[in-house]
Amino acid sequence: MALSPQNLRAIRADRVFEITWPDGVTVQIPFRYLRGRCPCAGCVNEFTNERMVDVEDIPEGIDLEAAQLTGNYAVKIRWNDQHDTGLYTWEHLHELSVAREWEQA
Ligand SMILES: [Zn+2]
Repeated sequence: MALSPQNLRAIRADRVFEITWPDGVTVQIPFRYLRGRCPCAGCVNEFTNERMVDVEDIPEGIDLEAAQLTGNYAVKIRWNDQHDTGLYTWEHLHELSVAREWEQA
C-alpha cells in the first residue's frame, strides 16, 4: 500500500503521527513509540537485527521536527533529538500500524 502526503499528518498537540491507509484505516502512532521503532542502522544492528535504541530510551517530550517523503516508498523523519537517519518505509509503518504495540500498556 502506497502513501502520499495527504495520508500523513503530524499532530503536534497530541504528539502523534497520523496515517490514513488507502483502505480507510487510520492510526495515530505516538511520536515516542515511532522514534523508538526507528529502523536506521544506528538504532538497529544491521547484521544481528538487534535493536540498540528502543522506546524506553526515548524521552517523553520527543517531538517531530520534519517529515519528508523519500521516493515513493518511505518518509524520512527528523526528530528534535537531532536524529534524522530514520527512513520509515510504508512496509515498516504498516507493520507498526497492524501491531499497535503502543496500545498495550
Ligand atoms: Zn535511527
